[in-house]
Amino acid sequence: MLLKGLLDDFPVLQRTINGKNLIYLDSAASSLKPSKVVDKVAEFYSYHYANVHRAVHTLASESTEMMENSRSNIAKLLNAESEEIVFTSGTTMSINFIVESFVRTGILKKNDAVLVTAVEHHANFVPWLRMSKLHGFSFKAVKPSGRFGELLIDDFAQFTGENPKILAITGHSNVTGQVINIKKIRELFPDTILIVDGAQLLPHNKVDVKDLNIDFLVFSAHKMLGPSGIGVLYGKKKLLEKMEPFLYGGEMIDKVTLEDVTFNVLPYKFEAGTPHIAGIVGFGVAVDYLNSIGFENISEHVSELTQYAIDKISKLDFVEIYGPLNEEHHAILSFNIDGVHPHDVAHMLDQEFGIAVRSGHHCAQPLMSILKDESKLSLFPNATCRASFYIYNTKDDIDILVDGIKFVKRWFS
Ligand code: PMP
Repeated sequence: MLLKGLLDDFPVLQRTINGKNLIYLDSAASSLKPSKVVDKVAEFYSYHYANVHRAVHTLASESTEMMENSRSNIAKLLNAESEEIVFTSGTTMSINFIVESFVRTGILKKNDAVLVTAVEHHANFVPWLRMSKLHGFSFKAVKPSGRFGELLIDDFAQFTGENPKILAITGHSNVTGQVINIKKIRELFPDTILIVDGAQLLPHNKVDVKDLNIDFLVFSAHKMLGPSGIGVLYGKKKLLEKMEPFLYGGEMIDKVTLEDVTFNVLPYKFEAGTPHIAGIVGFGVAVDYLNSIGFENISEHVSELTQYAIDKISKLDFVEIYGPLNEEHHAILSFNIDGVHPHDVAHMLDQEFGIAVRSGHHCAQPLMSILKDESKLSLFPNATCRASFYIYNTKDDIDILVDGIKFVKRWFS
């Protein structure tokens, strides 16, 4: 089990919800924030805040230094260069940024092929789908053929002959909890521009972009103990250099005349306007905090919880779990209780047990339709309950979840 005393870093865990101790099992939607992050953001606003990069005064240079320290912290985490780290508002913004910039730059043209998977979050699905309709490139989705939405390597193999220009894929499904083998997929598509949605992967794993030969990696701070409204777009320098900015305005320029404009160097060319400075500073502290625990320890702890939960919940014959149920299954457990709508399950777990879980389509409607087709229980209107685990969860939390699931089933029978 994880570090003793760690739970004290998350004051919200001392709250009671409907008379019960809070059990937070919704980290896949957004994680809790440790005091270190919250305090740093407050301290930054109270004593150091000024706009960055512009002025020569002391506060501005402190602010700039703190922001840039976060950038190099994050670069180190990915084994990347600081100039390859672009701050955005989050994963969604990062992906829209890439698609739009590719189109503007001519990297993505009519008749090019874009490949995604059917398990993607809408953030890594809708931008490609929609822009393919507007700009005439082809859009295809790899369908998962494994048990309940699990992607198998063979599912990808049939697309290698199509030579996709771009492969945009999640590193960790936010519904099935499957961790995707990016290394093997990269081997199948050595020349494709590989974009990895790391929104669920990064909170649990150190990702080495060089080792995996990832061209773009996108993720959000709020799922890994950091503030909301801030995220990262990592891009290989040689690609970022070619790309047209997504946003134009202040800070991203080198020279502007009445006739023309030249752009700033990387990464500032992509950071138009005043950034979410405090969010970036807070994100840096979150990364320090995760590093101090160690990503291997985090991953091991969460794996242990996941296997424990799978073990206990799969014994309940009125529950169906969606996902691989093997060692690839990590941190996320989507399930349904026979005959009970997932919103009712989530509501009752909250009201009676103080448990926070998510219910709904999890922004993955294409995958929900697939699960519905494969489900033995009638999956209500394409929705599941989703419990997700992180560093501050314990086996006791899962025991209470199991009690809660049994209670819900009894109540609705
Ligand atoms: N991709 C995945 C796999 C996700 O789980 C999420 C968040 N649920 C996103 C993308 C979107 O992240 P954000 O809302 O932070 O932009």
